[in-house]
Amino acid sequence: METIPDPVLKSLTSIVGGQHVLTGEAAAGFAVDWTGRFRGRAAAVVRPRDTAEVAAVLALCTDAGVPVVPQGGNTGLVGGGVPLHGEVVLSTARLTRLDPVDREASQVTAGAGVTLQQVADADPDLDLGIQIASRDSATVGGAVATNAGGVRVLRYGPMRAQLRGIEAVLSDGTVISHLGGLIKDNTGYDYPSLLAGSEGTLAVITQARLRLVPRLRDPVTAIVGLDSIGELHALAHQAVTQVPGLVSAEFFTSAGLGILTEHAGLVPPLAAPKQAYLLLEAAGPAALDDLADVIGDRDAAVGESAAESRRLWSYRERQPEAAGFLGVPIKLDVSVPAAHWVRLATAVADVVAQADPGARVITFGHVADGNVHVNIVPAATADGRHENAVFSFVASLGGSVSAEHGIGALKAPWLDLARTPAERKLFARIRAAFDPAGTLNPHVLPR
Ligand SMILES: Cc1cc2nc3c(=O)[nH]c(=O)nc-3n(C[C@H](O)[C@H](O)[C@H](O)COP(=O)(O)OP(=O)(O)OC[C@H]3O[C@@H](n4cnc5c(N)ncnc54)[C@H](O)[C@@H]3O)c2cc1C
Repeated sequence: METIPDPVLKSLTSIVGGQHVLTGEAAAGFAVDWTGRFRGRAAAVVRPRDTAEVAAVLALCTDAGVPVVPQGGNTGLVGGGVPLHGEVVLSTARLTRLDPVDREASQVTAGAGVTLQQVADADPDLDLGIQIASRDSATVGGAVATNAGGVRVLRYGPMRAQLRGIEAVLSDGTVISHLGGLIKDNTGYDYPSLLAGSEGTLAVITQARLRLVPRLRDPVTAIVGLDSIGELHALAHQAVTQVPGLVSAEFFTSAGLGILTEHAGLVPPLAAPKQAYLLLEAAGPAALDDLADVIGDRDAAVGESAAESRRLWSYRERQPEAAGFLGVPIKLDVSVPAAHWVRLATAVADVVAQADPGARVITFGHVADGNVHVNIVPAATADGRHENAVFSFVASLGGSVSAEHGIGALKAPWLDLARTPAERKLFARIRAAFDPAGTLNPHVLPR
């Protein structure tokens, strides 16, 4: 859709108010993603203030045949939250209601536009189980819609595992709500779970009921330098099995560290350079001793204070920025069974080199989840050759083309590497049941 009919624009204005319907230059920032790789044009950006306004906007757009892209913090990395085909953007920026924490249940109900950091800060003794580097901008709605993962999945699971209820609006304006927060509730289909990972294709999430976890007290963080990816994986496995308080097992390599040292002024964490770095974090009274036993006499930096821990985490959390210093990156996140992780992490740069010998490849990610982020700065035209090479390799190892970022627009052509025709037919039927008119995010996850 190139332009939005005037009567539709007028009706949107009468629903949300003139200052919350943006067009032209005012809408431009909503049409480009965090990486700069995905750029489109918004027919309009609409910012409803509550569920009733979301319902009215969706009913209107569906009646008028106007496609809608839901957008939260716009930190998604697969082009799923930007209007690549001139859609209307429904921004959740004003859905920021955060209820008081229910301490008895260790739960909170948060509006879709509340950031993950705001949820994490809501109570001094409780925390959100999800931690991602984009937490100051990424929203509850976006994190549910992408089933976000992050650096504590091995301890608390992905966003889906934090969901205790949901409120959402279907494309015809119907509000579905199940926010009671019951832990045991076998009363039919678990649609909150289905909406987790639905990437804005089934409904617009307006609120979520989230479980909170005890805030970690005195966590110990360590970065261990290693000479090979194989050694790193073996050590991570040892930590997972021998450190009961383990919360994170993350990795990065000399490639990403070198770029951050050169362009962001980071001072390497260890005196002697290493090929690969494993970040371990553990909590509990025995954390320091348990980590020390596993690390042994390897070269390591250990942080016990909050400031030291933050400093060590910055080496890992700034890895997503590294490729951006060299160009506009292609960001792929893939996962494979544990038995193939070392092969993936060691061979993926060569696989990319076969498709584009001049490309730069930076890898980092979540070792214990079988997840590697592959960031590529292409030298050759970005015409799909890089994705094709990596995804075909991953599929040959029995892996997934998306570990945690979703399919979005970026991976839509390769979904058949991960899902059978029968599964995709079922997806289409589910989608048609939720959104028969095809209003919501029509170009994300192929129909
Ligand atoms: C520096 C950096 C680090 C990151 N690290 C991680 C990581 O470790 N793990 C990880 O999983 N991700 C990571 N991400 C990716 C991203 O932050 C997550 O996918 C996040 O959950 C997206 O939230 P958002 O609010 O920005 O969503 P957006 O980018 O706005 O949208 C993402 C998708 O969700 C849909 N959507 C958004 N809001 C709603 C809603 N209310 N209802 C329905 N659909 C909606 C959009 O249509 C789109 O398809 C990282 C990103 C950056 C920039």
